[in-house]
Amino acid sequence: MQFVSPEIIFRGNDAWFEALPEIVKLTKKPLVLGRSINTNKLREKIVSNLKDRNLYVYSENLEYDCCYEDISRIKNIILKNKCDSIIAAGGGKVLDAGKFIADCLSIPSITVPLSASTCAGWTALSNIYTINGQFIKDVSLKSCPKIFIFDHKFIQSAPNKTLASGIADALAKWYESSLTSSTSEDGLVQQAIQISRVLRDQLLIDGKSAFKIQSIDNISWRNTIEACGITAGLIGGIGGEKCRTAAAHAFHNSITQIVSTKKNLHGEIVGVGILLQLKLEEMKNNNKLANQSIKQLLGLMKELNLPTTIAELGINVFENNNLEKISDFTCRDNSDIHFLPFEINRKDIFEVVSNFEKQAIKL
Ligand SMILES: [Zn+2]
Repeated sequence: MQFVSPEIIFRGNDAWFEALPEIVKLTKKPLVLGRSINTNKLREKIVSNLKDRNLYVYSENLEYDCCYEDISRIKNIILKNKCDSIIAAGGGKVLDAGKFIADCLSIPSITVPLSASTCAGWTALSNIYTINGQFIKDVSLKSCPKIFIFDHKFIQSAPNKTLASGIADALAKWYESSLTSSTSEDGLVQQAIQISRVLRDQLLIDGKSAFKIQSIDNISWRNTIEACGITAGLIGGIGGEKCRTAAAHAFHNSITQIVSTKKNLHGEIVGVGILLQLKLEEMKNNNKLANQSIKQLLGLMKELNLPTTIAELGINVFENNNLEKISDFTCRDNSDIHFLPFEINRKDIFEVVSNFEKQAIKL
């Protein structure tokens, strides 16, 4: 079975208001889930609009992350109060937690991304972390969200570093899927890869302008947020498992194992992961074009103020056995790194990461 998309999608400047009648049909006692203080005002508005429609609304925030501690606490609140849906309003971690809890309790989820940092509003997947933000695993869910609301005015109010992070995460679709699935004979997978190439081109064209002028009146911004929040999700839906993550996300997952004092966004780490993946392709797969891709990406990443080394993520790989920790986690069983079309071992990862960071120090 394949879950291609949410059942009902609202997008545009007034998506939230357009969605309200549909929400009222679906739920009488929703729990609105959030996290960040920055989005408190927006969530208050969401709650008050729902109450105006005579819904009985509960509101809760994640304390840490999309982690088992928060998940079981929220689950209990829902069970105790007999809530009949979850409306997850926030970034990727909030959306993932909301979808996961709804899935466990077999109640519908409604996703309302409050930034363009992620395609988690769309997908039937949740990433689970520890309370300190260390990646544990990703979980395939029983379905995509019931209602997906991509309200441009909501997203406009997010800090622009969330947009940069979303761009890096969406770019990874092309670099990862084209590498892992290029030999696939499945037409839908091939077409999903082609969409991810078009998505990458769109981000290379519009990303810089979108980052500079974050406004619903800027067509580049509108195209970019939809590329990150919608198209990236659609690619995962059409391409399915074969069209998902590879080395860039495997590096992300291992880098999160080292708790940094700097709070990095998902896509900020994935962006560094793409560069590392390209280095790996150059070394192990004799990919002569990888260096050109790195140069092209670095140009955009600098414009978007994105970190381009692990050091810039606040982590020194040359201390505390960090290189060993990254190599071990990247090569563990079930790691996405094993989807690569060439063999990889701990030594390769150790070498690529240390050369990459040493080179960065020299620059
Ligand atoms: Zn991602």
